[in-house]
Amino acid sequence: MSDFIYRCSQCGREYEITPDRMVCEDCSADQSADEPLRGILEVVNRRGVPADWSIYDFLPVGREWFPPIPAGNTPLWEPTRLREQTGLPGLFLKDDSCNPTGSFKDRASALVAAYARREDIDRIVLASTGNAGSSMCGVGAAAGLQVRLYLPAAAPPAKLVQSLQYGADVIRVDGTYDEASAQAMAYIAEHGGLSRNTGHNPLTIEGKKTVSLEIFRQLGDRVPDYVFVSTGDGVILSGVYRGFEALVNAGVADHMPTMVAVQAEGSCAITRALREGGFTAPVPSRTVADSISVDVPAAGYFAADRLRRHEGRAVTVTDDAILAAQTELASGSGLFAEPAAAAAWAGVAALRGELDADATVVVLITGSGLKDIDSAKRAVGL
Ligand SMILES: *Cc1c(COP(=O)(O)O)cnc(C)c1O
Repeated sequence: MSDFIYRCSQCGREYEITPDRMVCEDCSADQSADEPLRGILEVVNRRGVPADWSIYDFLPVGREWFPPIPAGNTPLWEPTRLREQTGLPGLFLKDDSCNPTGSFKDRASALVAAYARREDIDRIVLASTGNAGSSMCGVGAAAGLQVRLYLPAAAPPAKLVQSLQYGADVIRVDGTYDEASAQAMAYIAEHGGLSRNTGHNPLTIEGKKTVSLEIFRQLGDRVPDYVFVSTGDGVILSGVYRGFEALVNAGVADHMPTMVAVQAEGSCAITRALREGGFTAPVPSRTVADSISVDVPAAGYFAADRLRRHEGRAVTVTDDAILAAQTELASGSGLFAEPAAAAAWAGVAALRGELDADATVVVLITGSGLKDIDSAKRAVGL
């Protein structure tokens, strides 16, 4: 086996990293479609990292395979006016809206594309409600990969247009994400190709951990006290956890931050599971924040387990609070975020009373406001 392997987060069974290995075959044997994925695989680095580490030392695919598109490496804002307004001088915004396709998802797409290139695979297949899809299409265009995207009808127009502009094969599915996902998997079974279904391909979690390594570096080799993450499937949250865990495991950092999962009130399966002690029958989601609108959170078990283990928090915010946060963020800092991203900022307001004034607070801004103009219009009276 090589330096990097997969290990099942549930039973610990180890696997080689191969293109068709997605979940643990033991733990996923009784997997049903209306519960989160069982047996999510974590990438384990058995090599360690050098003292002068770079992000690539933590990733299972070498730098030379990454496509020529600058994913990640995003700025950490020091929003003076928001700091004054909230009374939090240690507030930072990690601006992942300035990724090449406008969302955080480029981190995962870049690693999946790099892996496909290394393995000589030229087609990537996925279902997505929007950002993961447009991201994979854009990164695929840079890499020269064929991308086949199953896009549910409800996706905001900008995300559809973006995917088409990038030259991908876009199949518009007149149904939900679950139906789109089933079609994508059926296509792979028949015609082949690498799956980039979020959560399902373990590299989607792995690619997202780079944000934590960057935050640590940008704070001057420091772990923040709090990281606010808007959460739907829980893949970003899991990735951020994996990043800080990787730093601790490598002996680079000595503790974990307190993570705050922020969910829309109308799509809060992970928060509910924490409260009720487990995942119950899915509740149809309904929120203005389309990117965190999820009935069955793919990485739900993983995310809930990490929140418990590392004493993280989960809060819910209403659609009104999300739209108010979007305007507050834009007018108070100059950062125009899509509703799902603004939800993280709404989470800060919800928890403000519990945060120490001197805390270092990082708010992850996961997508650009230009991704979904229709909901932004409402808040400015158009
Ligand atoms: C995907 C996404 C999220 C949520 O990520 P999950 O892994 O589904 O929890 C949040 N914000 C934006 C803009 C996204 O695209």
